Amino acid sequence: MSDTAIDAIVIGAGHNGLACAAYLARGGLKVRVLERRNVIGGAVLTEEFHPGYRNSVFSYLVSLLDRDVMTDLELEKHGLTLLHRPGGSLSLLPGAHMYLPRDTAAAQKAIAKFSKADAQVYPAFEDMLGDMGELVRGIAKDIPPNFGGG
Ligand SMILES: Cc1cc2nc3c(=O)[nH]c(=O)nc-3n(C[C@H](O)[C@H](O)[C@H](O)COP(=O)(O)OP(=O)(O)OC[C@H]3O[C@@H](n4cnc5c(N)ncnc54)[C@H](O)[C@@H]3O)c2cc1C
Repeated sequence: MSDTAIDAIVIGAGHNGLACAAYLARGGLKVRVLERRNVIGGAVLTEEFHPGYRNSVFSYLVSLLDRDVMTDLELEKHGLTLLHRPGGSLSLLPGAHMYLPRDTAAAQKAIAKFSKADAQVYPAFEDMLGDMGELVRGIAKDIPPNFGGG
């Protein structure tokens, strides 16, 4: 492709740059993506960190990938598989760790080993996070407000 044929240049092939480039290309534009590294993916890149072991080097949860983007770009058809995380482990004080299961009752049991009060309010905390998540999900695709312009 000669430079004159390019309609849009996207700098950086992280997942945001790649998604933007894919949407622009689907809209009929000729897009060039410039990436400074020799691999694409940015902070959601999967790399071999030890012979035979591959993992996302930074980002480890698919927190904000919108279902519409998955559908529009046919990500599952292109090989994306989402795995559900059964829980997470937290390193606390030296020698102490906590495995926090997704299941609320099981999580309360795990927390109660450290704080019965925290275990008791954990369901309310989860509800609050859920409400906040719904709120953010509802506005995530809105055009952001222009704080400079009112
Ligand atoms: C430690 C860590 C953990 C995280 N965990 C999570 C998580 O669990 N879940 C989650 O949803 N999010 C997580 N995030 C956030 C998530 O990784 C970022 O929001 C996401 O990667 C941003 O994507 P991006 O495409 O905007 O930028 P990036 O992924 O940063 O990609 C930018 C790309 O641009 C390239 N680039 C930069 N400058 C130039 C240049 N001048 N010329 C050419 N190329 C350039 C870079 O090499 C890179 O490939 C985490 C982030 C970090 C750092």
